[in-house]
Order: sequence, then structure tokens, then C-alpha cells
Amino acid sequence: MAINLELPKKLKASVEMTHQAAAEILRPIARKYDIAEHEPPKELDTASALYDGLAAAGQAPSGSSGDRKGEDPDKPKPVVDPAAGARNGGTMESIINAIEMCWGDVGLMLAFPYQGLGNAAIAAVATDEQLERFGKVWASMAITEPGFGSDSAAVTTTAVRDGDEWVLNGTKIFVTSGARADHIVVWATVDKSAGRAAIKSFVVPRDHPGVTVARLEHKLGIKASDTAEIRFEDCRIPFDNILGSPEVNVEKGFAGVMQTFDNTRPLVAAMAIGCARGALEELRDVLEDAGVTIDYDAPVNSQSYAAAEFIRLESDWEAAYQLTLKAGWMADNKIPNSKQASMAKAKAGRTGSDVTLKAVELAGTVGYSERTLIEKWARDSKILDIFEGTQQIQQLIIARRQLDLNSSQLK
Ligand SMILES: Cc1cc2nc3c(=O)[nH]c(=O)nc-3n(C[C@H](O)[C@H](O)[C@H](O)COP(=O)(O)OP(=O)(O)OC[C@H]3O[C@@H](n4cnc5c(N)ncnc54)[C@H](O)[C@@H]3O)c2cc1C
Repeated sequence: MAINLELPKKLKASVEMTHQAAAEILRPIARKYDIAEHEPPKELDTASALYDGLAAAGQAPSGSSGDRKGEDPDKPKPVVDPAAGARNGGTMESIINAIEMCWGDVGLMLAFPYQGLGNAAIAAVATDEQLERFGKVWASMAITEPGFGSDSAAVTTTAVRDGDEWVLNGTKIFVTSGARADHIVVWATVDKSAGRAAIKSFVVPRDHPGVTVARLEHKLGIKASDTAEIRFEDCRIPFDNILGSPEVNVEKGFAGVMQTFDNTRPLVAAMAIGCARGALEELRDVLEDAGVTIDYDAPVNSQSYAAAEFIRLESDWEAAYQLTLKAGWMADNKIPNSKQASMAKAKAGRTGSDVTLKAVELAGTVGYSERTLIEKWARDSKILDIFEGTQQIQQLIIARRQLDLNSSQLK
């Protein structure tokens, strides 16, 4: 099937609306909440209410949960019917909206109601009944624990079945929007002896008895976004709050929960692309003000170092953008995209850091000072190469897929 990455008319309107919101709501308050870490960005609540109104009227872009209908995550993804043609849908819309929002500000995008990574996880694996209950919540994503980060098979938080309920116990750290989001998607093991196959995800209301937001982190960047430690102590949730099948299928292993990454990694890649585009635009202005001419028709070796570097950064950015659209397009067309999701995340995560840091360098004192947002973007973008799987972990996954090796064969 030919890949169709042309944005349909419907998405173009959505991009324009999100871009306007990013320019008028996020950009003007970006520095304020970078300085006022842990102060809830109240302007976002007003904006969110506006979005809700537009959504009710069918005019607002969808959030990270997209407009996907519920599917059984344990059913194999249907093979694409080539006759059906390409279809750019919910994932693509989430990606392009994330790009625009993060052009505005990554930290504020992460703090924006209903844009949680948990929402993308719910959208990826919830059944129709669960989408009915959780489709409109704001959900953070809690995988990381004090004992591990990258090795997500090392989950020690437990979920023990007790009649019609699950009882959760454990501690999660570095939960983005953990204090602001009203729900948490929690990874826990239902049977420690069964290894990674027993790791499942559960939707937990944040104000539920047994849930405590213990503390907030101080960070290098994305300071507008809260990063929380959350404790679960005999936290009882309904049996139906498990996402995916409760069965422990040793053959299938980790695939159930890992499927959520196929949706969330392109989304994080999109965040890096948006942030990097903001930096490129600002850098172009700074360079032009300094008298640098960027000439796309002239060979780079006949241009100044700054102009040649700018063109190199832009082409890197374009590659990251195309890979991310492809990963999203595959998800929308039900084509298994784990490798492409990791490729997009690896390329965009690194490009985000490279572009923003290089922008600091090329813009000189303007870049390093607080006179523009360039230095802030260099701090903000680093996390996009870390969470939802670091650069090294993405490369490991790509290598495994490329060489057809499993996680015990290539560590
Ligand atoms: C601001 C912020 C927000 C976050 N938000 C969330 C969130 O919402 N939910 C959540 O669950 N977690 C979140 N995290 C946690 C994040 O996902 C982890 O930090 C990340 O997975 C890396 O884990 P780690 O920090 O323990 O590093 P480690 O796993 O200890 O890794 C340290 C270094 O070793 C490398 N490394 C590890 N294993 C390998 C390997 N096998 N091969 C090669 N290199 C390897 C890593 O790439 C890294 O460079 C957040 C973190 C931060 C800083």
C-alpha cells in the first residue's frame, strides 16, 4: 500500500486551531511557569474548558486519546486491506497536535488537561466498555519504580485479585502529571513468579483510598509539568479496571502492556519535533538579524558555518518528522509499528536535543541568555530522549527487530 502522508483537510484545520492555541495560550506563559515550578498553570484549565466546548460542538482537535473505537488488545491487529486505501486517523491527529502544542511549550503541553501519556495507553488497549468509562479521564502513566527505569520487566508493584477487586501495593516514581491528572495507568504484576507475562496495566483514580502523591521532583526542564512519586497502599480498584486480558499468557509474554508504547512513542517523538521546530524558527530569526543568509540553492561549502549547520539541522528535523508520521500512519492503518515507533522516538528524541543545543550555540549570547526561549527549549527537550524509553533502549529495540532476536538473545 502506498504511504499517504498528505494531511487531509480535516487535519489541516485541526493543526491551524492547535497552532493558534499554542501561540496565544502556551507561548506567552512558557517562561512564567518555567520559573514558577510546581505552581499549577491555571490558564490551562480555562483553555481546556474552551476545548471541551469546542469538542462538544465537534470543532476541537482530539487529545492524545484520539478518536479510536475500543478494540480487544489481545486480538491480533487486523491485516490492512490494501483495497481500503490509506487512512490518516486518530494517531496521526494526536501526533500533529502534539507537534503544534510542543511548538508552544513542552512542559505546558504535558500539563494540559486530558493530554496524559496514560490517555494514549488507554486509547491503545481499552475495550469499548472501558473507553466508555475512561475515554474522558485525564490519565498519567506510572511504570518507573525506585528499583528500575529502563528495565520495565522489573516491576515490583503488585496487583492481587480479591473477589471483584484488585488490591494494589507499591511505589511509582517520576510520574508525569501524577499530581494533576485525575487517573493513573499503573503497571503492576499479578504474579511475581510468572515474570514479564504477568505485568498488566490498571486504571486507578488518583483520589482513590490507598493512593498518595508523596512528593514532586525539581527538574532541569519541563518545569511546568509536575513529576510525582505515588504510593499505593492496599488500594482496591474494581476488577474491570485492568486494561487488556487478566490472563497470564507466558507465550505472549510482555506484548500486552508493551503495545501501549507503539502509541506513546510516536507521540513523544512528536513532542521533540514540535520543540525543535520552535528552536529552528527562533534560530533563523536570530541568524538573519545577525546578517547570516541561508541559501538553499547554494552548496553548503560556499556558505557560512552557521548557515550550513542550520541547513543540516533542518534536514535532520525533516527525517525525524517523516519517521514519526510514518509510525503514526502505520498505527492508524493497523500495521504493527513497534520498530517504526522506536525509530521515530530515537531519531526525534536525539534530533530534539541536537537542534535545541546547537541553537544555543549558534545564537551565541542570545541563545544562552533568557532573552529568548532557546535555552529553555534546550533544557526541555532532553527528557524527550529519556522517558518512554531512552535513546539506548530504542536502539536496542530496533536492533532486536532488525535482527529478529528476542530480549534474552540481545540485551
Ligand atoms: C522528567 C521525567 C518524567 C518522567 N515521566 C515518567 C512517567 O510519566 N512515567 C514513568 O513511568 N516514568 C517516567 N519517567 C521515568 C523514565 O521513563 C526513566 O527515567 C527512563 O525510563 C530511564 O530510566 P532510569 O532513569 O532509571 O535510567 P536507567 O534505566 O538506570 O538507565 C541509565 C542509563 O543506562 C542506559 N541503559 C539502561 N539499560 C540499557 C541497556 N540494556 N543497554 C544500553 N543502555 C542501557 C540508559 O539508556 C540510560 O542512559 C520520567 C523521568 C523523568 C526524568
